[in-house]
Amino acid sequence: MNRIKKVPVKKIGVIERYQEFLPVSDRTPIISLNEGNTPLILSEALPSVLGLKGLKIYFKFEGLNPTGSFKDRGMTMAVSKALEEGATSVMCASTGNTSASAAAFASRCGMKCYVLIPEGKIAKGKLLQAFRYGAKVVVVKGNFDDALELVKKITATHPIQIVNSVNPYRIEGQKTAAFEICDDLGDAPDYHAIPVGNAGNITAYWRGYREYKEKGHSDTLPKMLGFQAAGAAPIVLNRVVKNPETIATAIRIGNPASWASALKARDESGGLIESVTDDEIRWAYRFLAEREGIFAEPASAAAVAGVVNLAKRNYFKKGSRIACTLTGSGLKDPEFALSFDDRIESVEPSIDAVLKVIGTVPPARTKKSSVR
Ligand SMILES: *Cc1c(COP(=O)(O)O)cnc(C)c1O
Repeated sequence: MNRIKKVPVKKIGVIERYQEFLPVSDRTPIISLNEGNTPLILSEALPSVLGLKGLKIYFKFEGLNPTGSFKDRGMTMAVSKALEEGATSVMCASTGNTSASAAAFASRCGMKCYVLIPEGKIAKGKLLQAFRYGAKVVVVKGNFDDALELVKKITATHPIQIVNSVNPYRIEGQKTAAFEICDDLGDAPDYHAIPVGNAGNITAYWRGYREYKEKGHSDTLPKMLGFQAAGAAPIVLNRVVKNPETIATAIRIGNPASWASALKARDESGGLIESVTDDEIRWAYRFLAEREGIFAEPASAAAVAGVVNLAKRNYFKKGSRIACTLTGSGLKDPEFALSFDDRIESVEPSIDAVLKVIGTVPPARTKKSSVR
């Protein structure tokens, strides 16, 4: 009989865990919230729904980071290095998650944090995080790209450290997610699917996979599969999109800062960058929550929608392993979550009234039938 053994677990952040791959020294103060070490969850339902049972699809659920998105991996690096270099304040433009993360790490080391967010298009959960972590929030009457231009100009002439992904330390920290996937799978997956907004993360993963292989920790490299929302797909269209529109606000970006390196990731890996429609994103968003038990935000669902499209075109080789980054938590965007026609039914406190609303209950399983 197997007995449950107590094992000592020390949760550490990505800088401590992967310091030999990161530009840190013993003089670097480590500002960490024990980010990273997120679960790689095997898909239970998607391969059979696609009629491709041989596929192994893994969800890297970054919504379980301390502030609810992968941005924490880059922010622990950016804020630690800012502190090492003597900064007393940081600034970012943000569709929401960058500001939540910047504000949290800044608060942890007593730094001031300024965030510029585009008017009206930020998920409620992200905005309230910036406020609660004590950031100074400025709403810019414009889109994300306008806000980022302002941040670049202000930080160029004022003693404020920019912590958008043009800050090279952000990408360095974010590449640790690729290391974790290789550690979990024993090698790189065959494909890596990821939503693309400013394109920092696809850049970071590709760098991570390459470096891990160069240093002998993995043998193979994945094909990088990036997905933009159809209304915000500058890389796919090969031109700046002036007024990007999508329900996936985290990737509502018309002029990605890491455009060139996203193309490199795509081409060097033999992958692709495509777009998915808002309807496809909506479907994937619901599927993840209702069939996989994973509540991720709409932008995260874009990567899953892209995998579904490719699978339908028989893109994947039989038996492939596909890793799919779910970039943020579904709790970030309660308004979107409540935008479906869910009905709340109130009844009198009686058995009959409750049974009437819940309708037919499925029969119990017989001993022989399996769980699914
Ligand atoms: C930032 C973000 C993205 C986009 O990542 P980029 O590095 O800008 O391409 C996607 N999803 C979520 C939830 C994000 O917060």
